[in-house]
Amino acid sequence: MALQEHPASAVAADLHSHSTVSDGLLTPSEVVARAAGRGVELYALTDHDEVSGLAEAESAARALRLPFVHGVEVSVTWASTTVHVLGLGIDPDHRPLRRALAQVRSGRTERARQMAEGLATAGIDDAYEGALRFVRNPELISRTHFARHLVETGVCYDVRDVFRRFLVAGKPGYVPHRWADLPEAVDWIGAAGGVAVLAHPGRYRVGELKLHELVREFKEAGGTAIEVVTSNHTPDQVRRFARMAEEMELEASRGSDFHGPDEAENVELGVVPALPRGLVPVWHRFL
Ligand code: AMP
Ligand code: MN
Ligand code: MN
Ligand code: MN
Repeated sequence: MALQEHPASAVAADLHSHSTVSDGLLTPSEVVARAAGRGVELYALTDHDEVSGLAEAESAARALRLPFVHGVEVSVTWASTTVHVLGLGIDPDHRPLRRALAQVRSGRTERARQMAEGLATAGIDDAYEGALRFVRNPELISRTHFARHLVETGVCYDVRDVFRRFLVAGKPGYVPHRWADLPEAVDWIGAAGGVAVLAHPGRYRVGELKLHELVREFKEAGGTAIEVVTSNHTPDQVRRFARMAEEMELEASRGSDFHGPDEAENVELGVVPALPRGLVPVWHRFL
């Protein structure tokens, strides 16, 4: 029997992207306008550990009649690995969520200073000040801002190159950090009226068994969906995570993880493949 296509699948949803409120290059209004201009029909802004861009994004979306979903991407530490959990459909004014996110953000400045110290040992001076020039939200300095600085100063030829050489485990600018716990992040999202989505599972450098364990714990904690389609997934990974969503009875999400024009090859708002058939698109909840 042919697999049924869920009616919501036809909607061009892009439920993962960033603005200047975290490590994106466009303001919330600009990113919304770009999404609308590229044919996105249902759009979520999901800044890292921040909801302060959502009010601006929502009014920009309303003016353009673009259906909008309030989102956030929470940084989580699970079994010593950093994983990201999207909260979709959250109430951005929910006080406990705002407090929890402020707590998650709070270690970033000290971490950034330590990253700069690490980079100094590799002969790169004043990286903290350099990175800050790219930061628009003082509470949210990220590795991406360091990467842009090292590209601009010619140390590396692109952002990927910076990560590979300087910003991942074992490299001089890498500082291990403890983010939120998985169950608490899922709880915050649920308490704020949203659903939790495990972001870009193909990005985690863990083996098959560990990944299954992660998805199982995510589901047990109350997680709703996994991001099956994202710009960074290969066609094989899309198939693999589609199967995983079905097996684990999780819904499926889709998002570009757009950070800015020309920031990364093949990453653009609305430019993401369709969900494989047979899955339940998490966005049926927002239509
Ligand atoms: P942070 O939250 O400070 O650890 O920064 C994480 C962000 O760095 C991610 O959201 C991506 O935007 C970016 N990032 C992580 N790994 C890479 C990579 N290999 N290439 C490019 N950007 C990356
Ligand atoms: Mn990012
Ligand atoms: Mn992410
Ligand atoms: Mn993201």
